Formats: sequence, C-alpha cells, structure tokens
Amino acid sequence: TDIQELLLSRIRDVADYPEPGVMFKDITPLLADPQAFTALTDTLSQLAVRNGATKIVGLEARGFILGAPVAVRAGVGFIPVRKAGKLPGATLSQAYDLEYGSAEIEVHAEDLAAGDRVMVIDDVLATGGTAEASLQLVRRAGADVAGVAVLMELGFLGGRARLEPALGGAPLDALLQV
Ligand code: 5GP
Repeated sequence: TDIQELLLSRIRDVADYPEPGVMFKDITPLLADPQAFTALTDTLSQLAVRNGATKIVGLEARGFILGAPVAVRAGVGFIPVRKAGKLPGATLSQAYDLEYGSAEIEVHAEDLAAGDRVMVIDDVLATGGTAEASLQLVRRAGADVAGVAVLMELGFLGGRARLEPALGGAPLDALLQV
C-alpha cells in the first residue's frame, strides 16, 4: 500500500551495527518525517482499537516513542516495560535468553491488573525474545493479551513462531515484513 511504501522509504539500513554482520533497521528518519510518523501512529492506533485494547505496553526504548502517541490517539493508558533496574516502584520482572547470555525486563506491578486488555508495541520484531517476555509479564499481572503490533518484522529470525504460544491466539501485526 501507499502507507507501507512511505514507511519503508523512511527506514535506513545500517550495515554492521551494533556488531559486524548485522543489518540494523534505523527508524530515526521515519520519526523525523511528520507525515510518515503520523501515518504510523494512526495505523497502529487503529489496530489497538480493532483489538479492543484498554492499555498499551511500550518496550524500551523505541517502543516508548511509538507506543505513547498510539495510546493517546486510542484514548487508553500507556505503560512502559523497561530494562531491569530503571523503574522506582514495586515491579514484576521477567528474564529471557539472548543469543549470548540473558536479559531482564520489568513493569510496575500496579500498572496492570485483571480485566486489562493489553497491546504490546515495539519498532522491530527480531528473535521475538523481548516481546515474548513482555507477554509473560502481562499474563503474570493477570491481564489479557489483546495483541502485539510492530512496525517491522524480521521474518528470517523466526520471532513469529517463538511468540505464538505467548500470544494465545491474539494477533501479531507487522506493518512491514523483511
Ligand atoms: P528481539 O527480542 O525480538 O530479538 O529483539 C527485538 C528488540 O531489539 C526490539 O526492542 C528492537 O527495538 C530491537 N532490535 C533488534 N533488531 C533491530 C533493528 O534492526 N532495528 C531496530 N530499530 N531495533 C532492533
């Protein structure tokens, strides 16, 4: 579609970042283009409404930039999921495996509760580890998963398959596929 072409044209490929052999998808040109950023925000907020989301979870850090305007546009609250050690209040935390080692993410426990329908937003779905851990946090808090939406899915990394059990039938929407 025209929107997909616009979005794709504003994503920059950066070779060998953050390490040799990786082709990094840089979304900063998209953020700097008001037409593209608005189109992205509008499309994601339509998905949030379609999914019946009552809360948006954004994943640090680019999921904050995309998720916050989507939450405002959809008229629901925004909840940050952060890397461990950044949130001041009582948290739930979830560890997950990386290619080398592991990582941990956290959410304020009081921000999610039974009855919430949560849509998780991030810029890129790669291996799916971060999104999977965030869905585990959502479920451990007693909330329901309304879906996951990302700007771009790196299909060759298999994130969709990894995420499937945690989605429990909820939709995974990627506006662009690589
Ligand atoms: P995963 O856990 O799915 O392997 O990695 C996803 C996380 O890493 C996301 O939070 C995403 O922001 C970041 N990420 C991984 N690869 C890229 C990339 O090529 N471009 C951008 N912008 N983020 C990436």
